[in-house]
Amino acid sequence: MVYGQESNSFDVIVVGGGPGGSTTASFLADKYNKRVLLLEKETFPRDKTCGDAISGKSMSVLADLGIQDKIEKVKHLKSYGVILSSPKGTILDIPFKSDDPDRHNYGYVCPRLNFDNIVFQHAKSRKNVTTIEKFSVSEVLKEGEQVVGVKGKNLVTGKEQEFRAKLVVGSDGATSVVARSLNLEKIEDKHWVISCRAYYDGITGMKPAIEIHFIKSVMPGYFWIFPTSTTEANVGIGMLASDMKKNKVNLEKAMYAAIENEPLFKERFKNAKIVSPVKGWNLPLGSKIRTCAGNGFLLVGDAACLIDPFSGEGIGNAMYSGRLAAQVIHEAFEKNDFTINHLKTYQNTLHKELDYELKTSYYLQRLGTVQFFLNWVIAKAARSQSVRDTLSGMLANTKAKGGLVNPLFYLKLLFA
Ligand SMILES: Cc1cc2nc3c(=O)[nH]c(=O)nc-3n(C[C@H](O)[C@H](O)[C@H](O)COP(=O)(O)OP(=O)(O)OC[C@H]3O[C@@H](n4cnc5c(N)ncnc54)[C@H](O)[C@@H]3O)c2cc1C
Repeated sequence: MVYGQESNSFDVIVVGGGPGGSTTASFLADKYNKRVLLLEKETFPRDKTCGDAISGKSMSVLADLGIQDKIEKVKHLKSYGVILSSPKGTILDIPFKSDDPDRHNYGYVCPRLNFDNIVFQHAKSRKNVTTIEKFSVSEVLKEGEQVVGVKGKNLVTGKEQEFRAKLVVGSDGATSVVARSLNLEKIEDKHWVISCRAYYDGITGMKPAIEIHFIKSVMPGYFWIFPTSTTEANVGIGMLASDMKKNKVNLEKAMYAAIENEPLFKERFKNAKIVSPVKGWNLPLGSKIRTCAGNGFLLVGDAACLIDPFSGEGIGNAMYSGRLAAQVIHEAFEKNDFTINHLKTYQNTLHKELDYELKTSYYLQRLGTVQFFLNWVIAKAARSQSVRDTLSGMLANTKAKGGLVNPLFYLKLLFA
C-alpha cells in the first residue's frame, strides 16, 4: 500500500519489525487472515547489535513460515558445535547432536542485517500486512483501561499520526516504548546483560563452531567468537548490568584487552582487522519475564524479557512468542474478547512453555559465576569422552539440559 493512502484502523497493530514482530505479523496475516499494521522506526535492511547465532528454535519457526531456505542465500556459516574455555584456559569442544530426525545437528551464524531482513520482507510481502518504515511509535492510546491504538511520528514527513486497532503487539525490543508507556515493571540490573560486539576479519584457528570463553578478566561474563565465515567473526563480550556497574567495567576496553592480552586469543588475532564499529546494546533476561499481556495488548520477544539468561540467545524466543501471540490473538477475535480475561492465556502459556528452560539457564548463569566450578567441569569434560557425549545430548534437548542443574550429574562427574 502506498504511504498516505492507508486507513488508520486495523485488526492488529504490531510495533517493531524485528524477528518477534515480523513473525507475529506474518502469522496473523497468513494463517489467521487479520489486517495488520506493522510499524518500524528503521528502514530494512537494518543492523541489530547481536552475536548473530541462530538456534534450532529460530529455524523451526522459520520453517513454519516457509522461509528456512532463504538463510542459505545470504551470508552465513553453519556451526556444528560449541567450543568452551574455562577461566584456567582449558578448551572443550562439544559437537551439536540431534536425536530428532527433523532437527539439524547444526545452527547458523548469520549477520542480523541479513537474517532480520528475510523475516521482515516476508511479513511486508503478505497481502494483509501494511508496513510503514521510518515510523517511530511514542505512546499507546487508551480508552479507560483498554489499549486501542498507538501514536507516533513519521520520521520522513515529520507528521504525527494515530492508528487504531482491537489489539496492539509491542515487539519493539529491549527498550520497548509500548511497555514503558503502559508503566510496566522496570527491569532490575540483575536481570539485564550489557554487551558489545564488532566484526573482525583475519582471525586464525576458527572452526565451524561458536566459541564461548569464560576468561578471568571478564568474569562473571563471557567473551564470544561466532564465525560468520572461515576468517571473519562476530566478536563480543557481555556482563550482567549489576556486575558491570559494581566492578566499573568498560566493556569496549575489556574486549580490546582480552583480544590483545589473553593467551588464548593473542596469536589468533595478531593479523586480524576490525571491520565494523563496536556497538553495544542491552539483553533483557528471561530470569524475570515481565507482565506481557493486558487489556488490548501483548508483548513479544525482548519487549517481554525472554532472553536465555545463560546463553544470551533471544531470537528463538522472540519468534516463538510471536507465533504464540498470533494464535492467542486469533482466539481473541473468535471470542470477541480483547481483555486480559482472554489474553492472560498468552502469558500463562509462555510461562508454562519457557519457565523450565529459562530457570535452568538462570541456575547455570549463577553457577557460571564461580570460577572454580567452571574450571572443574570443563577440565573433567575435556578429559572424558562420555562426559562430552552427555553434555552434547544436554545441549540438544531442553528437558535433558535440566540435568545440568541436577546435583547427581556433578556427583557422577567426581568419578568421571
Ligand atoms: C550484543 C548482543 C548479542 C546477542 N547475541 C544473540 C545471539 O547470538 N543469538 C540470539 O538468539 N540472540 C542474541 N541476542 C538477543 C537478540 O538480539 C534479541 O533477543 C532479539 O533481537 C529479539 O528480537 P525482537 O524482535 O524482540 O527485538 P529486536 O530485534 O530488537 O527488534 C525490535 C524492532 O523494533 C523497532 N523499534 C524499536 N522501538 C520502536 C518504536 N518506538 N517504534 C517503531 N519501531 C520500533 C526496532 O527498530 C527493531 O527493528 C543478543 C543481543 C545483544 C544485545
